[in-house]
Amino acid sequence: MVSDTKYVYAFGGGTAEGSAADKALLGGKGANLAEMSRLGIPVPPGFTLTTEACLYFQRHDGEYPPSLAEEVDDHLKRLEELQERSFGNPEKPLLLSVRSGAPISMPGMMDTVLNLGLDGRVLEAQKNAGDGRFVRDAYRRLLTMYGDVVMEVPHRRFEKVLAAARAAAAVADDGALPPAALDGVISAFEALIAESAGRPFPQDPMEQLWGGIRAVFASWDNQRARDYRRLNGIPGTMGTGVNVQAMVFGNGGDDCATGVAFTRNPATGAPGLYGEYLVNAQGEDVVAGIRTPKPIEGTAAGGGMAERFAEATAELKAVCERLEGHYREMQDVEFTIEHGRLYMLQTRTGKRTGPAAVRIAVEMVGEERISPATALKRVEPEHLEQMLAPDFDQNEKARAVAEGKRLAEGLPAGPGAASGRIALSADRAAAMAADGPVLLVREETSPEDIVGMHASSGIVTSRGGMTSHAAVVARGMGKPCIVGASELHVDEESGEVRVAGQVLREGDDLSIDGTTGEIFAGGLAPRESDVLAALTGAGPDTEAARAFRKVLEWSDGVRRMRVRANADTPEDAIRARAFGAEGIGLCRTEHMFFEEDRIPRVRRMILATSAEERRAPLEELLPVQQSDFEGIFEAMAGLPVTVRLLDPPLHEFLPHGEKALAELAGDMGIDASEVAAKAESLREVNPMLGHRGCRLGATAPEIYDMQAEAIARAACVRRRAGDDVQPEIMIPLAGTSEELSRLRERTVAVIERVQQEEGVEVPILVGTMIEIPRAALVARDIAAHADFFSFGTNDLTQMTFGFSRDDIGSFLPQYLEQGLLPFDPFMRIDETGVGSLVRTACAQGREAKAHLHLGVCGEHGGEPHSIAFFERVGLDYVSCSPYRLPIARLAAARAVLAAREESLPEGE
Ligand code: PEP
Ligand code: MG
Repeated sequence: MVSDTKYVYAFGGGTAEGSAADKALLGGKGANLAEMSRLGIPVPPGFTLTTEACLYFQRHDGEYPPSLAEEVDDHLKRLEELQERSFGNPEKPLLLSVRSGAPISMPGMMDTVLNLGLDGRVLEAQKNAGDGRFVRDAYRRLLTMYGDVVMEVPHRRFEKVLAAARAAAAVADDGALPPAALDGVISAFEALIAESAGRPFPQDPMEQLWGGIRAVFASWDNQRARDYRRLNGIPGTMGTGVNVQAMVFGNGGDDCATGVAFTRNPATGAPGLYGEYLVNAQGEDVVAGIRTPKPIEGTAAGGGMAERFAEATAELKAVCERLEGHYREMQDVEFTIEHGRLYMLQTRTGKRTGPAAVRIAVEMVGEERISPATALKRVEPEHLEQMLAPDFDQNEKARAVAEGKRLAEGLPAGPGAASGRIALSADRAAAMAADGPVLLVREETSPEDIVGMHASSGIVTSRGGMTSHAAVVARGMGKPCIVGASELHVDEESGEVRVAGQVLREGDDLSIDGTTGEIFAGGLAPRESDVLAALTGAGPDTEAARAFRKVLEWSDGVRRMRVRANADTPEDAIRARAFGAEGIGLCRTEHMFFEEDRIPRVRRMILATSAEERRAPLEELLPVQQSDFEGIFEAMAGLPVTVRLLDPPLHEFLPHGEKALAELAGDMGIDASEVAAKAESLREVNPMLGHRGCRLGATAPEIYDMQAEAIARAACVRRRAGDDVQPEIMIPLAGTSEELSRLRERTVAVIERVQQEEGVEVPILVGTMIEIPRAALVARDIAAHADFFSFGTNDLTQMTFGFSRDDIGSFLPQYLEQGLLPFDPFMRIDETGVGSLVRTACAQGREAKAHLHLGVCGEHGGEPHSIAFFERVGLDYVSCSPYRLPIARLAAARAVLAAREESLPEGE
């Protein structure tokens, strides 16, 4: 057990003071370094400053806890003894790295400073004692990293000096710069830092160390980190750890290397080590994409890591297998080989694409490493969403290739197809995204590009590998992404991308296939995924589709809530069933009114001046509606179908504009001015609060009568045909119990009359939507007249916030930016406000009727956070669009598992 006042924890040398269980205290990186040390895996030793030290620093305006300096000194002493080297000692210098590590992996903060402990004296002594080139190179790297992240000298200014040095020495690679050239670079870097930062690079190693620690703690609260936390819902109260670790060198010669690896393929989920390495390089060379790394397994032409590093490669494989077995989870590791000896620098849960997540989860259950419940916790609803994401039609792609439109190929870093206009900076991407899809095209990305990446439909970089920033972040966001497309010459300044002899400009259309890595000129149309096709029966079954279904099968075994679909037509209903719908939660009958053969009758019904006049068009509409319902009941035989009576204001059904109104008058043989006057009288300024929903039913009851009759007759027809029909009639927008009681009475009377006439009895429930705040507040009274409630959270959100459903776009971006809203409440339920009304209505409703059936049919019914909320309030079902059903099924299961976890100690 760890005490509150201890701020520094040691790891390495075969032991550790912390473990993987201490993520909150030590950060992910620190906790896993400790765990690896405990497992006896070779880890360079070091120590971790806790997240509590960071929070203290934040709360005390940059002051450290009083005991921290002494604790750091003690741990440094231990490290010196272990390594038999001393920090700042010119003869036997101990060099250190400083890295951040929050409890949740978080780009945006200061990342790494390497080689701390080098200064002028150490440099001079080592130039003569050891490898003169190596120590110079290490010092110039320290100057760059420290200058950039601690002293805030822009990175590109260092790059410029280096580029000039390479040109002067006529070498392509920094690693080939001769010692004399490096001396020149070092002097130029020192001068650059002194001039830009207004103070020289610190020559006291302890000052360097504390400078690094301070930069990590301070970066917890920088703008980029705050942006990242906001976008990902990470609380600002966690803090970050700081890991101080003895350096090992992957750049000490040709018997050294550095690399990153996944224990399974992060793009496809295929088993086996998957990674990249660079000979004679330091870690940041791989991640920054400065040199393009080679695959560890090599290619058909060879070049695998084992050719040069047989022992270290075998050990890496063994360590990775051990780590995966230990964590029972796919790991993402960083390693260094120093003179043939392997060191592990990091292990963490590997980020993965949707298809990989599903495959890994299913296969790990098959390998008996995890239970199906754990598998469900690891597959995010977004992963399924990604698998249903569009790709390009193969023929269209072939045509584009034949037409010479395939411009380049890069590494397939994030699957899925996207097309959009080119934006060359993150800011431009964010601005352009308001007018339609955008592809962000850059040399490489960095944490400050996060907001622009979020706004883009896809991301392309000309540099970098599968583990570059762009690749990692895009996969996390589930966006199509291609990296390392080196044929692309991206020139942000001139606003051009040159590729394959062509010049593309910002704003031009581009298409990318992130699954294959191909880049095309022009806007190819993305199309539905193979998994989707397999699920709907439109395409052949595949391994991926089978794994997808397995996840859904497990979900169905765990979830408590039912899932229904919002579907308006028999075709929608058939699709919904294919996606696992257990009923229809909302059939919006008005959608049937818009079809060409119906709309004239609907308009005649609307323009009628009396109930008498309305009868004829209603009589014509009745059989049409009835046949729609018959189709839906047939498709959903054995399952409930909630049909909502007419909801929108009638003016929505009239044509817009004078010409169209005049045409309508002509068709109907009425005076044009009469039609115009009627349209004017129906026009509403804010129709969402006007003459709609059950207000129509109350003032023109013949319409609801017709619909109730159509439903009841359709039910009788299908019942006679042998189907088990379970219709539910839903009355929208009720705000008072009187509205509901009257309309219910009328509806029940129609049903009884029809069933008598038809000589068939089919139970038909009559319920209401809860979508007006008042209805939620008086739900007890309303429940007396309802067989069920279905929460219309779209309208309920609109009316609770007083935000118009159609206008929120005009101010939402600024509200989100300013933190006035944490998210769009029309997408994700506002639990505190709107949710409180839902809770009230559920409690009152069930008080009045213990078995009152409760569901939700607003857009929130398909959104995972909201689904978790609906699970907690105890709804019986959620209803969402057919395509979101797989997501809802998984989210409903995960909500159950999360609720169970809250009431259980840690574990599966
Ligand atoms: C709702 O308001 O949540 C709802 C489902 O109805 P509509 O979106 O049709 O208003
Ligand atoms: Mg509504």
